[in-house]
Amino acid sequence: MSLELSEDILYDCIIVGGGPAGLTAGLYCARAKMNTLLLEKGTLGGQIAMTDLVENYPGFPEGISGKELTRLFKEQAERFGLQILRKEAVKIERVNKEIFVHLRSGELLRSKTLILTVGSNPRRLGVPGEEEFLNRGVSYCATCDGALFDSVPIAVVGGGDSAVQESLFLTRFASVVYLVHRRDQLRAQRHLKEKLFSNPKIRFIKNKVVEEIKGSDTVEYLILKDTITGEVSQLQVEGVFIFIGLEPNTHFLKNSVKLDDRGYIVTDERMRTSMEGVFAAGDCRSGATGQVAVAVGEGCVAAIEAEKYLQENF
Ligand code: NAP
Repeated sequence: MSLELSEDILYDCIIVGGGPAGLTAGLYCARAKMNTLLLEKGTLGGQIAMTDLVENYPGFPEGISGKELTRLFKEQAERFGLQILRKEAVKIERVNKEIFVHLRSGELLRSKTLILTVGSNPRRLGVPGEEEFLNRGVSYCATCDGALFDSVPIAVVGGGDSAVQESLFLTRFASVVYLVHRRDQLRAQRHLKEKLFSNPKIRFIKNKVVEEIKGSDTVEYLILKDTITGEVSQLQVEGVFIFIGLEPNTHFLKNSVKLDDRGYIVTDERMRTSMEGVFAAGDCRSGATGQVAVAVGEGCVAAIEAEKYLQENF
């Protein structure tokens, strides 16, 4: 479907971001007969588009691939009239009760309400092999992919709460979990560190950075470099989970809605942001849990609140 873009159209709702939160918000808005446009700059599905098998989203007892789940979300929302446009929003502003959305391609869109579902991305290591072995041993989600590494050695990279918490979770599956950290001190909370050091399945590899991820079809070993001695070594693993922080996709919102000190959008429990008529849901929201089921629930709340706002203000 080709969409006509015009400043003359005043949408009821524009949604920025086409992951589970955005597509759910789109379903609810469109089904409520709101004239709704969803903008997505990259691949629909967001983080789940990178996930081979989603096993913890209710309704799919055998699990479902992230791609297929995205396709179903999209089909359902489009059935009720959601319009989807592959364009990037670069700025938002509120002028006389209307929200203006500026696109990278130069157009300006106008809407009565806006829902931000821009998600966050795992920070990448940026080493050779990382992209090549994505979903073939390289993962950024233990909940999604941990069970694929039953009784085999794996590595976790990072030293924060996520790396430590996910290492503990991964001991349910792996034969051994090597926690590779670039310093000798973990920044994770004390109680997590205590659990980590008392777990016999976890080996802490300190002062090492990953130089390269190697294998043939799937990951076979890592090349590590000691940050103090410079010594290079190999670590035989079948998987590597990277938890070196997340980056919310909120850079373009810096001077519009309130962000927390990590760049996530601050909302109240009704998903309202600091800008009237603008809501946020899913992984870009302060306090996000990174779960599809939560993103979907928040997308639903944001859409219901946007509809209420519309009725009360227009
Ligand atoms: P984080 O706290 O930012 O930690 C990132 C870790 O990755 C740090 O140890 C850092 O090393 C390391 N790192 C960063 N860039 C790297 C690189 N290029 N190469 C190698 N290592 C790199 O991220 P997070 O663990 O994802 O946590 C994010 C936030 O969520 C934090 O505020 C955390 O407290 C919170 N969180 C809380 C819980 C909980 O309460 N249970 C669970 C998960 C997350 P350095 O230490 O050397 O900088």
